[in-house]
Amino acid sequence: MANSTDFITRVRPAQFERLLAEVRACRICEAHLPNPPRPVLRASPTARVLIVGQAPGRRVHESGVPWNDPSGDLLREWLRIEREDFYDERRIAIVPAGLCYPGTGDSGDLPPRPECAPQWHPKLRAHLPAIRLTLLIGSYAQAYYLGSRRKKTLAETVRARDEYLPQFFPLPHPSPRNRLWMKKNPWFEREVLPQLRRRFKAVRMI
Ligand code: SF4
Repeated sequence: MANSTDFITRVRPAQFERLLAEVRACRICEAHLPNPPRPVLRASPTARVLIVGQAPGRRVHESGVPWNDPSGDLLREWLRIEREDFYDERRIAIVPAGLCYPGTGDSGDLPPRPECAPQWHPKLRAHLPAIRLTLLIGSYAQAYYLGSRRKKTLAETVRARDEYLPQFFPLPHPSPRNRLWMKKNPWFEREVLPQLRRRFKAVRMI
């Protein structure tokens, strides 16, 4: 006879699938997007790590695969993880602050649509009970999850990471456009990346 645990493990994936279908059918900010909505995310209720980035760029929008670009290559290098393991959604959930490509402005990709995170993150997060570490990549993810706990600059927020751990690990965006930031902040590579790798490895393998 099924016990309550069997019930939970059987029922949760179906509920989760329904939620994912709901997300994928979302049209809330369609009028502001340059293309028909195409939410790009990967998640499973067993995931231990949640990666919250900004929003898909054009290349990710076209492929439907998150972090499928030079920023993703650098993020995998930071985490010392192979592509195949990075995309194992049983361990790693990837849910950006804005799920659809917001378009491009004069100085690069536009910010994530502000409607998106409040609409979907609480619902998705409620279905990800095994998350032990959330990587907050870039200022939009940090603004949403840290709120007033965020420092004045991204560098200060990353430096203050121990205030947010073990739940959140704030990081800069690994975009090639941020190379100058990395150069100006050598402590990031020296101090933060080793800590990130240790923490990520420990949590992912639980
Ligand atoms: S960006 Fe978010 S809120 Fe807007 S249509 Fe896509 S999933 Fe919906």
